[in-house]
Amino acid sequence: MFVPTTKQELSELNWDGLDVILVSGDAYLDISYDGTAIIAKYLINKGYKVGIISQPDINADSDILRLGVPKLFWGVSSGCVDSMVANYTSLNKKRRNDDLTPGGINNKRPDRAVIAYVNLIKKYSKDNKKPILIGGIESSLRRVAHYDYWSDSVRRSVLLDSKADALIYGMGEKSVLQFAEAIKNEQEISSIRGLCFLAKDKPTDAVELPSYEDVKSNKALFREMFKTFYENNDPINAERLCQKYDNRYLVQNPPQFYSSEDLDEIYNLDFERDAHPYYKAMGEIKALNTVKFSITTHRGCFGECNFCAIAAHQGRAVISRSEKSILKEVEDILENKNFKGVINDVGGATANMYGDSCPIQKKHGACKNKRCVFPTVCKNMEINHKRQIALLEKIRAYSKIKKAFIGSGLRYDLILADSKYGIKFLNDLAAHHVSGQLKIAPEHIDDSTLTLMGKPNNRQLTKFIEEFKKATLAAGKKQFLTYYFIAAHPGCDQKSHANLKNFINKEFEFSPEQIQVFTPTPSTYSTLYYYTEEDADSNKIFVEKSLKKKAEAKESLNKDANSKPKERFAKNEKNRNSRRHI
Ligand code: SF4
Repeated sequence: MFVPTTKQELSELNWDGLDVILVSGDAYLDISYDGTAIIAKYLINKGYKVGIISQPDINADSDILRLGVPKLFWGVSSGCVDSMVANYTSLNKKRRNDDLTPGGINNKRPDRAVIAYVNLIKKYSKDNKKPILIGGIESSLRRVAHYDYWSDSVRRSVLLDSKADALIYGMGEKSVLQFAEAIKNEQEISSIRGLCFLAKDKPTDAVELPSYEDVKSNKALFREMFKTFYENNDPINAERLCQKYDNRYLVQNPPQFYSSEDLDEIYNLDFERDAHPYYKAMGEIKALNTVKFSITTHRGCFGECNFCAIAAHQGRAVISRSEKSILKEVEDILENKNFKGVINDVGGATANMYGDSCPIQKKHGACKNKRCVFPTVCKNMEINHKRQIALLEKIRAYSKIKKAFIGSGLRYDLILADSKYGIKFLNDLAAHHVSGQLKIAPEHIDDSTLTLMGKPNNRQLTKFIEEFKKATLAAGKKQFLTYYFIAAHPGCDQKSHANLKNFINKEFEFSPEQIQVFTPTPSTYSTLYYYTEEDADSNKIFVEKSLKKKAEAKESLNKDANSKPKERFAKNEKNRNSRRHI
């Protein structure tokens, strides 16, 4: 079933009202890639009546009150992406397109959507006030004081700026359920994991972060705050945190625990794999095409690229679904009348971390003073592609499946680090799971910038290119690598930029598919470097802040990459045909 979005649907379900109404900045897709849909289905499965209002008009009550007022609480999210990232490019230009809006025109999601939607609810439901819970990526990564690129300032926690009642961060299903139970039974919410709330007094059991007043004008204290915040993201060893704002305290409880069984339950909920008819009627929602028949095998990532927020959102521990649960989802897909035989993606934040774990992390939590794969892979991390190889073999064995691609990102350093199964995995990947191009994300090639990015060094890339060529040759296929790079990352000075340009010119046979200018999104290490213009050890680093120069940096890479494209392509076609590989 679809979660109701209109009064008409409520009466068809014989529901006399709703316990919870979820408000989202994305159009409602009934699929496990839409966090709002997951939360709604999870709560419904536990016996709650839930409705969804997507992309409401913020200037009228017609959308927000369409389903009435909930009995228990409102849940608010910007959608799958922070609304400022969704609405503006890294060069601060308004984005025209939005793949999560019907018709693709970016005109439905307000800036700072969480704040806008909370204001909207407060304005039009004054006479029947219910608690407002905020969550999703925008709230999660703005949960304590954070640097905000778009206003070039340190902002308060979004819980204070929105004036919502509580904030859920990270993976939300279990915490939202516990919140619903507490509100229903009129119990305290203050011990729910994954929750932030405001308190008059400083909790006695919390580690105190430097106050907002202090961090907003003192970069050294901001760095200290960020490090403590970042270290406390593993449910096993995270401390409760608090931060003072005037005469109140923001309290952040430790993250929620998740297990494989939890993920099995969530991903085996009944999803329609389609846009809700109310939103479908408004136009095509492009994002659906890539995720409609895709499968999430795990959550979390121990890669810790410094520009990525996943460690502060989902955590460093990889939680993998059971094979049984994944194959059940495959079988559900096979039953879908629109399925044409192609699974677009079998993966997670990093596709080839499925099944990987560290016994020390499992027992004591992720190390606070050490990274799992940087600068090299930690000896305790059990990198092993065996489970993923077996899973993919089983997926391929279904006769109705023509192709099952891996479209999520891969960490090539992990393939190289797995001496037993890495090459077997790569051979299988090249033979069965690449759709002509394998997209990889070296992000840079200059080792000084790669270090600031927390990415593997350049030799790993060169080695992987060699291995991929061998694997694709063995598979007898014409397929090649495409690359994602970031221009103007903190630390990328003229020399580092020139090294990247040279590498593109010399080594790459095809244009880099994607060159993006670095966006300082909230709560990442790279954003800390951007803001402070220092690395984690307080050493001064070069940071490009001029929009004009950032645009020029991107342009210069694109120009090199695209120089003489026809000749280059013709030469490569010839090379590929003679060598039968990239
Ligand atoms: S022991 Fe190594 S792999 Fe395990 S959590 Fe610590 S750094 Fe990560």
